[in-house]
Amino acid sequence: MFSMICSAALCGIKAEIIHVEVDVGEGLPLFLMVGYLSSQVKEAQERVKTAMKNSGLRLAPRRITVNLSPADIRKEGAGYDLPIAVAVLASYGHIPRQALQGILMAGELSLNGEICPVRGVLPMVRQAAAAGFRCCIVPKKNEKEGAVIKGIRVIGVSTLQEVISYLNGKHAIEPAAFCMEDMLAAGKGAKYDFREINGQEAVKRAAEVAVSGMHNLLLIGPPGSGKSMTARCIPGILPDLSLEESLEISEIYSVAGLLQEQEPLILQRPFRSPHHTVSAQALAGGGRYPRPGELSLAHRGVLFLDEMPEFRRETFEVLRQPMEEGQIQISRVSGSITYPAKAMVVAAMNPCKCGYYPDLGRCSCTPGEIRHYLGKISQPLLDRIDVTIEAPEVAYGQLTSGRRNESSEEIRKRVVKAHEIQRERYEGTSIHFNSELTAEGIRSCCPLGEKESRMMEEAYERLGLSARGYYRILKVARTIADLAGSRRISCDHIAEAVCYRSIEKKFWDA
Ligand SMILES: [Zn+2]
Repeated sequence: MFSMICSAALCGIKAEIIHVEVDVGEGLPLFLMVGYLSSQVKEAQERVKTAMKNSGLRLAPRRITVNLSPADIRKEGAGYDLPIAVAVLASYGHIPRQALQGILMAGELSLNGEICPVRGVLPMVRQAAAAGFRCCIVPKKNEKEGAVIKGIRVIGVSTLQEVISYLNGKHAIEPAAFCMEDMLAAGKGAKYDFREINGQEAVKRAAEVAVSGMHNLLLIGPPGSGKSMTARCIPGILPDLSLEESLEISEIYSVAGLLQEQEPLILQRPFRSPHHTVSAQALAGGGRYPRPGELSLAHRGVLFLDEMPEFRRETFEVLRQPMEEGQIQISRVSGSITYPAKAMVVAAMNPCKCGYYPDLGRCSCTPGEIRHYLGKISQPLLDRIDVTIEAPEVAYGQLTSGRRNESSEEIRKRVVKAHEIQRERYEGTSIHFNSELTAEGIRSCCPLGEKESRMMEEAYERLGLSARGYYRILKVARTIADLAGSRRISCDHIAEAVCYRSIEKKFWDA
């Protein structure tokens, strides 16, 4: 007898509907599985058979054929165990076949019949709701992330026996509930606030400018100058996430298997800080069973690269293209997949090995050592950082001064306004922020008056800029003007933008 139930495959962070077809017929006892399966999926038959036996189900030996379609999608992971088991049981008559209609199911079976969590339940339920399914049956541990999606019942199950009773109508299960208000109450407020940083006004200003145009930022300064504290404060001055953005980030975490049961919807902008020993793959994503990397986990938030020169060069090379494109493509034998990767990169570094250059009274490095240290950052990578700022050591007086510091909330209000201006300007284009402007866009969005043109020309000569460097200054000047609520880019705006660029020049062209 033939039965069919739906499940889902992950392609990047999207789910595709998969039909799990099972035929049980006469002939030599056999368990045959087809449909472009990875070895992990093929192993399902052992888990399914043992889980059934240990759930007290004895099935007469028959010829069992399992087909997962469509055949052109590669099937990976253990999430097909549960739908395969259920379709087999339906073919044997243990579950009414009509009970499987309109249901999408995923779950890994352990040998004792328990149902273990799987990755990607959030995008699966989202796809099921969009395709008009009435219900999803998912592992109990994944039910909350499924319940985030409106308009579909999500049933969490713990054992194979429970699923059988449920589908036979012998055991009712309440659909999982999700309460947005509870989540909002629990997750309010950023952990780090600029209010706690004394002094460092220029650094805070540079962070505000960078965030306002979503420019990548480099902080350079001696140890203990608060570089990483500054980086950690940055998510707190970014605008609140929209629900759509929250869902998108949560989907990435769901696919990575990192969504917490208690926090099924991510409401805070991510802050990822991979150690400098991170592999290129962990940073970019991929692997035999592909998962999003750190850059995608930082999507719509901040990727913080502390002690940047300590990272291996080839690790950075994988970042270059995605930093430009806002997504990362992973090529595989079975076709390529794409993960979103629109993160603001914040990098921090000491200016030399001992950390005190250019304070020649304290720096113990030779000029060669300093060059070597700074040379670890490649020019193509520097080209992708629009704002560079020097974080000086904090003077004792600043540490103890009773001056009230501006809070992240206050800074954020200005950032939100600058984002709003950009949203209006770029409406209907593929651009969202000034940092994404191309040379052509810069010409039309950053017109300069006569005085301003002359100033740019001077800077071009004086700093020995490349065309790329010239455009980067204009993009940052555009952001500074937006922050000031000015349509026109003035000499003041250019002067500040040039300043962020000359700091880079000071270290790398010395
Ligand atoms: Zn030094």
